[in-house]
Amino acid sequence: MTVPLDLAFFHRFLDRATRVVVAEAAYLTELDAAIGDADHGANLKRGFTSAADAVAQEAPATPGALLTAAGVHLTNTVGGASGPLFGTVLRRMGKIFGDEAVVEPETLGKALAAAVASVRRLGDAVPGDKTMVDALQPAADAYAEALATGGVAEALEAAARAAGAGAEATIPMRARRGRASYLGERSIGHQDPGATSSALLMTALHEAADPVLCAAPVETKEPSKHPTAEPPTEAAAAPGPEPEPAAEPAPVPGRVGMVLVSHSRDVAASTAALARALTGTDKPAPAAAAGGLPDGSVGTSAELVRAAVAAVDEGAGVVVLCDMGSAVLTVKALLGDGSLAPADVRIADAPFVEGAVTALVTASAGGDLATVLAAADDARAYRKL
Ligand code: ADP
Ligand code: MG
Repeated sequence: MTVPLDLAFFHRFLDRATRVVVAEAAYLTELDAAIGDADHGANLKRGFTSAADAVAQEAPATPGALLTAAGVHLTNTVGGASGPLFGTVLRRMGKIFGDEAVVEPETLGKALAAAVASVRRLGDAVPGDKTMVDALQPAADAYAEALATGGVAEALEAAARAAGAGAEATIPMRARRGRASYLGERSIGHQDPGATSSALLMTALHEAADPVLCAAPVETKEPSKHPTAEPPTEAAAAPGPEPEPAAEPAPVPGRVGMVLVSHSRDVAASTAALARALTGTDKPAPAAAAGGLPDGSVGTSAELVRAAVAAVDEGAGVVVLCDMGSAVLTVKALLGDGSLAPADVRIADAPFVEGAVTALVTASAGGDLATVLAAADDARAYRKL
């Protein structure tokens, strides 16, 4: 079967993608609840429905203009990390298509490859990091490979299949990018939401090649039956330095607490608020701010640090994030003279804001003291360029 990759094809794709995302929103959100903040389905539903409405009004004249417009709307409306990433995919593809009224199958291959390269650059992610790249890269590769010997419909089918396999292959991976990376080892055993939605989008692209199939109702996955429910696979148990007890509910007396020591009362308090908000739960692990001096002026107060540690200590240990200088020195001095006992207090060698977020997310997920410290440590490696 030869399908023209014309404006109608890409309209079918966007329409099908929107219906699939709406139908699978609960499933995607359930995946994101396990290793993120439970908004991926809602994010994409909002983004795709608004993009679909917008392009229906704007009526772009070419496939390139259509994908570019949809990409811009996705970036503006999704809200989460997936917005700019999927927005980049569509905009990059649209740019490669240029003004062509009918896109050549080879050009679609080039566009897919360029789109994945852009996502990798923007997200600083490579295959194996447990992100959407793990579905998109194999899809682009499979498309090119299948097109070398077959037609566009076969190439699209191969791409969809490779994306699905790529999404499943994220289950045993440890997340190294995005929100799931805050969980470190605990991200193992769960399928990445963005890789899953990428596979759904690649399937929609394949289905766009068949107008009859495309018009068929979308079958919804049952949220509770997704592969996350399975126990962690080989990679989780692979030989390596001390496998972390990802699924093991450690018999700790309470959760690990967190104290934020900043020179500024406002910085400490609002960083604590940010970290709580990003845990995605209404019952975050205990976090206390020890910012500034008791009168509100700038500085570090031993008295406030002692009170904060006592307030968050549930018996499972306390991680302290400090901004700099006297904040670090004060906590070290208090540790040295034993005045924070009986709490088991450790200083995290991590950037203040990022470390606070990763530490509290991990503590709220039930991580023990070593896991929470390791998660805060990981925040040092978050590159921004
Ligand atoms: P947020 O994580 O901001 O809540 P979403 O839940 O909408 O955003 O999207 C999460 C998905 O985005 C992840 O499952 C992952 O596939 C993808 N993602 C997040 N960060 C990156 C990144 N740096 N590079 C590539 N993909 C990423
Ligand atoms: Mg999310």
